[in-house]
Amino acid sequence: MFERLACTCEGCDRPLTVDDPELEFRRGECRRRAYECGCGTVTITVARR
Ligand SMILES: [Zn+2]
Repeated sequence: MFERLACTCEGCDRPLTVDDPELEFRRGECRRRAYECGCGTVTITVARR
């Protein structure tokens, strides 16, 4: 089960497509995903198993 802490753009508040991350980083049981919005803002989300 994933916990999503943020799923809207931090710049323009637009909903992000959370199933299509630009980048994914893993460290232990945490995953950080970066989403780039059309406005140019990169939003990072953290998911834990
Ligand atoms: Zn945006």
